[in-house]
Amino acid sequence: MARIAFIGLGNMGGPMAQNLIKAGHEVLGFDISLDAVGKHVAAGGIAAGKPGAAAADAEVVITMLPSGAEVREIYLGPDGIIERAAAGALIIDSSTIDVETAREVAAAAEARGLMMVDAPVSGGVGGAQGATLTFMVGGSDEAFARARPILEAMGKTIVHAGGAGNGQAAKICNNMILGISMIAVSEAFVLAEKLGLDAQKLFDISSKSSGQCWSMTSYCPVPGPVPTSPANRDYQAGFTAHMMLKDLKLSQEAAKAAKAPTPLGAGAAAIYERYVDAGEGARDFSGIIRFLRGE
Ligand code: NAD
Repeated sequence: MARIAFIGLGNMGGPMAQNLIKAGHEVLGFDISLDAVGKHVAAGGIAAGKPGAAAADAEVVITMLPSGAEVREIYLGPDGIIERAAAGALIIDSSTIDVETAREVAAAAEARGLMMVDAPVSGGVGGAQGATLTFMVGGSDEAFARARPILEAMGKTIVHAGGAGNGQAAKICNNMILGISMIAVSEAFVLAEKLGLDAQKLFDISSKSSGQCWSMTSYCPVPGPVPTSPANRDYQAGFTAHMMLKDLKLSQEAAKAAKAPTPLGAGAAAIYERYVDAGEGARDFSGIIRFLRGE
């Protein structure tokens, strides 16, 4: 069992750290929120005073932070993880951040002789609690092999996506598909309503035809056809519109930098931006159908 420093004990990081504790690891937790640290200690974790000190005292360092800005600060800032991590430590960043920052931090880790992977997740808070997350991992074969058993305590599907930053690349490409497909499915239901076609009938047909996709069959944006989808509980968030917008913006930044044409990705980002600006950022991202209806 390993001594692990876990930094960022929020909605995702909190339960992920708890699953590491359940698996028998010793977990030093740090967060700027004292409430989050309190929950970590109540679950059997150890409170750490500073991220650098926690990293210096651990074999594995995991971060689960809001965005690239916090990752830069915690890794590259004074008294940061790169400067303080113990020799031979393995570093795992599971935050969803821009590919550029992920590669820059990985290069800084490598320059200090540390092994690092970017390992963003999909599966949401439910996946974090149930240890069923999917990890998309970028880094060397050796770093992936070392990270795998640690990630297995927090997730079910662990995929090596290639070199540094490729975990983040996989995450934003996947979520760009999701954002676009949720708008496409929602537009189809709105058009069906206007044409007098019953939502259940469209679902029965499209879920078995070429319009079939996850946004239709697992997360249907109208109430009824898929009882577990947020549409049946007033679009209370599983995955918020705010998070979807964050990931679409990351994919647009990457597309711009890589000169990849993504016109529908750009359109989806613009539509989610208007939805979030309308005050619906905390709502589930499938609530976009209400925005398209003009509600
Ligand atoms: P969150 O806001 O609940 O948690 C982030 C935690 O980081 C907070 O507890 C915050 O206090 C802490 N933090 C912020 N700045 C810090 C600093 N400088 N030092 C230490 N701690 C700091 O967010 P979350 O939902 O847990 O998401 C974390 C990451 O996971 C994000 O990058 C997000 O995009 C990604 N993600 C979230 C979901 C989801 O459904 N929530 C799904 C997949 C991926």
